[in-house]
Amino acid sequence: MDERDFFDERQQNRTHRLNCPHCHQPNDYELNWLVRTKKRQLPPRADELDRAKFAKARSYMLRRDDLVGCKNVRCRKRFEVSGVQSVVFMDEAGKPPVSRPVDPDDDNFGNR
Ligand SMILES: [Zn+2]
Repeated sequence: MDERDFFDERQQNRTHRLNCPHCHQPNDYELNWLVRTKKRQLPPRADELDRAKFAKARSYMLRRDDLVGCKNVRCRKRFEVSGVQSVVFMDEAGKPPVSRPVDPDDDNFGNR
């Protein structure tokens, strides 16, 4: 059984505050993450080994964006994302410890 069978996979944009190393201006940037949420149960075809691995598996997120373009119109340089982990493990509730998600279902989205 593949590790992917342990997780539900989805993409999510999350907002992070980053400092541009060129102009040193902080701004909020949306980064794309791949979120792997541990399934509640293994499929029935799982064997002993799968169950052991599944017991140890934890939900996590992988950062997919490594570069962002500076939002400062007088700078606009691209810089590497730093200070944001590339892999974040989530607690049992599935809530990552850092940053807030961008929820497209949020009624206020786009009105800000
Ligand atoms: Zn900049």
